[in-house]
Amino acid sequence: MVTTAENPAFKINIDEQELSELCKGIALACVRSAAAPAPAAAAAPAPPIYFTDPDETPAKKTRTFKTSQGEHVISSLSDDKCIAALQRKGSGGHAFSKTLLEKKDRFGSWTQAQAAWAHKLANEQVAQAPTQKEKELERASLIALLALLKVPGGKLKQPSIVFENGDSMLRLQLAGARSKKPGSVNVTDGGEYGKNTWYGRIDQAGGWEAARTSKLPVWAIDIMNGLAKDPAGTIRDNSKLTGRCCFCRRKLDQPAAVSMGMGLQCAQNFSTPALDLERSWKDEEKRLREQNKN
Ligand SMILES: [Zn+2]
Repeated sequence: MVTTAENPAFKINIDEQELSELCKGIALACVRSAAAPAPAAAAAPAPPIYFTDPDETPAKKTRTFKTSQGEHVISSLSDDKCIAALQRKGSGGHAFSKTLLEKKDRFGSWTQAQAAWAHKLANEQVAQAPTQKEKELERASLIALLALLKVPGGKLKQPSIVFENGDSMLRLQLAGARSKKPGSVNVTDGGEYGKNTWYGRIDQAGGWEAARTSKLPVWAIDIMNGLAKDPAGTIRDNSKLTGRCCFCRRKLDQPAAVSMGMGLQCAQNFSTPALDLERSWKDEEKRLREQNKN
């Protein structure tokens, strides 16, 4: 555990290697100050570490941060890029990166020393994988998903759709009137309220507001993009793995419901003129009935 001079309440978890580096630095500083002939003699400042973002032009402006050990970190990363890099590092199991992201989420900003560490770690991450392109949610998908969950006529209080991948879950749920952002769509891991992981929200305009601490898994991005392009196919494929209605989570028993991945009631609730699930459901029932006759 480490506390900083700027903010004594700030505690960080640090892994053994980082702690050992830190201790070496402190020990060295102690030896130097003990050996110094006059206490007034200022120690030479540590040479700054320069980082440049490989995605940016060299003309990009830089910012300087100072750690509580007096180390200068010069970074050309924006805060958003810094956060994205820390998320990658954090999802790779780096506990200190996660701690820094939690601080940012909780307090809205970092202290000078925290920002210095955040940019130092983020720049190391960026330097490691400069060309790694990430899968992204498509704008058209977000708009389509928003439309899917805004059930006409307000038949349901908080319509949601759920997908599974092994032990993992993905839930998209329309935020109710009393929520922080009514009419937006919250995206979570499907856990119960208060204990779930929030990945972000689709805002009313179809924009994506990502959570800082939890990154949407790649399979979930595939589902969300797929759901917009081929809703029926994506729902059918996923329900084959679960045997449940993607909307209400009830076990499916009727053949047409199993085939469609949803019960008739939910198909009716989620039908819109653009996506007539009820029509598709009844067509499927008819098709299966005729198939059985032959
Ligand atoms: Zn259902």
